[in-house]
Amino acid sequence: MIKEENMFNKKEDQKEYKKTCMSPTHNPPTHIYLTPGEHEWICEACGTVQIIVVPCVMY
Ligand SMILES: [Zn+2]
Repeated sequence: MIKEENMFNKKEDQKEYKKTCMSPTHNPPTHIYLTPGEHEWICEACGTVQIIVVPCVMY
């Protein structure tokens, strides 16, 4: 029982940490140009991975 409680608390802590991550690298910069497709952005501070999907735009 004690182990389970510890695991639960650890999960909650990680959630809270991600919520409060204020690192400038947490979110991908909006001014960068990305080629169409899927890109992964990884926060250097907390390691959260975000998938950036860039639609294929025809000119
Ligand atoms: Zn972060």
